[in-house]
Amino acid sequence: MQNRGLFIGGREVPGHGAPLQVRNPYNGEVLAEIATATAADVDLAIREAQHGLGVWRSTPAWKRGEVLARAAALLRERAEEYARTITLESGKPIRDARGEVQRAIQVWQFAAEAAKDITGEVVPMDAAMGGEQRWGMVLRVPVGVVAAITPFNFPLNLVSHKLAPALAAGNSVVLKPASATPLTSLNLAGLLSEAGLPPSVLNVVVGGGGQVGDLLVEDERVAMVTFTGSLAVGKRIHDHAGVKRVTLELGSNSPNIVFADADLDLAAVALTRAAFAFAGQVCISAQRIYVQRPVYDDFLSRFVRRVESLKIGDPLDETVDLGPMITPEEAGRVEEWIARAVAAGARVVTGGRRTGAMFMPTVLADVRPEMEIVCQEAFAPVVSVVAFETFDEAVAMANDSIYGLQAGVFTRDINTALRAAAAIEAGGVWINESSIYRQDNYPYGGVKMSGLGREGVRYAIEEMTERKFVGIRLS
Ligand code: NAP
Repeated sequence: MQNRGLFIGGREVPGHGAPLQVRNPYNGEVLAEIATATAADVDLAIREAQHGLGVWRSTPAWKRGEVLARAAALLRERAEEYARTITLESGKPIRDARGEVQRAIQVWQFAAEAAKDITGEVVPMDAAMGGEQRWGMVLRVPVGVVAAITPFNFPLNLVSHKLAPALAAGNSVVLKPASATPLTSLNLAGLLSEAGLPPSVLNVVVGGGGQVGDLLVEDERVAMVTFTGSLAVGKRIHDHAGVKRVTLELGSNSPNIVFADADLDLAAVALTRAAFAFAGQVCISAQRIYVQRPVYDDFLSRFVRRVESLKIGDPLDETVDLGPMITPEEAGRVEEWIARAVAAGARVVTGGRRTGAMFMPTVLADVRPEMEIVCQEAFAPVVSVVAFETFDEAVAMANDSIYGLQAGVFTRDINTALRAAAAIEAGGVWINESSIYRQDNYPYGGVKMSGLGREGVRYAIEEMTERKFVGIRLS
């Protein structure tokens, strides 16, 4: 068992709050104990970040880029170590954890390049009367101290999606990782120091969201909160942030539409992964699959065959597809949602059972839109498969959600594909690919209750910089 601390002022220091135990969700083993942050520790972290900001924003872009490139290189050298830590603290199957590390390496590489390419613009001042003999420039400058608050499900890549663009743009950061998965963040902070990040530019405070998170959100020295997590917490942050920039990457119950002309095997393979990767605990997991009536039975049998071949077990086992959910309580919540849906007429086609935090991959049919397992975010290995008749009906069902993050559409008809892409209310629509597919260089984020703002390194840099105007009057 490790004893870990907070990361403040360039080194790991003990917090002064209650100890937090980090457990392996698969077997309950205690991996680490961390003394959490008190209000005084959070205050210190913010003061350090203010100091770090002064140093980092005046560091030339080429040097910032070098530090970020070295971070990518160090991460590549230690990829296996990071993958194991992700698996141990989150329960993510090791093959998926390795994939997460590879994506994070690319995020740091993208940021290293983007750091050297933050450009401004020139305003045509003589477009306004009286503007003759004036020049106007718009610079992009760092917003300041950024508070980053992250969820448990991608302990490395979603943390990287906040730190890498924030640092590329010259900001300093106070990071509060999820209490379930803080070890990857603490390791990453050490790695960034090794890569040459000056002390105090990145600080990590560990502790409960309602305590440490609230303190960061409400502090007026913090210029921006970048949050990824649930809708309930996102709303609270939005309400409490005061005068600061807020970006929110929130949840979803992502829809995927399979039209009758689709390649059904392609759709079944993609949607098996989309519904069950990391036990469905992904914000863009396929939660609702709509299949056109003539191919409904055919699709369902191909899909269920694949789902039943998924292997459940120890996430460190190379051959395992599904490990545990993050806690037995979360698994219990989903079990209750399914029981209530079944009582109201839903049918369990496969799965539906659990042992502790291990939940069988579950496919439901005969659901209704108002069931919580359909209309709320399940965040679990459960998917509903529903038949539709017409294009309009499919789009209406897909859009019948408070959320709008990503969607998938399977069809061989370009007209159907593009009409669906235009009509679906989501931040991103994939054609012949499922809702779960994401690359780290495109604008990613939600509409409706799925969030505010965009990530994807260059787009996050836009969110994390201010436009500063400089005017010159010629004489
Ligand atoms: P969560 O419960 O909302 O927690 C996310 C983070 O917020 C954690 O660090 C948590 O701290 C902190 N927090 C809790 N209460 C807070 C408060 N009052 N003020 C400030 N921070 C607070 O989410 P989760 O269970 O970790 O992650 C799952 C959720 O994240 C799902 O809804 C999923 O869809 C969403 N998600 C969205 C995206 C996206 O890109 N759109 C990506 C991944 C996940 P503690 O851990 O200490 O509670």
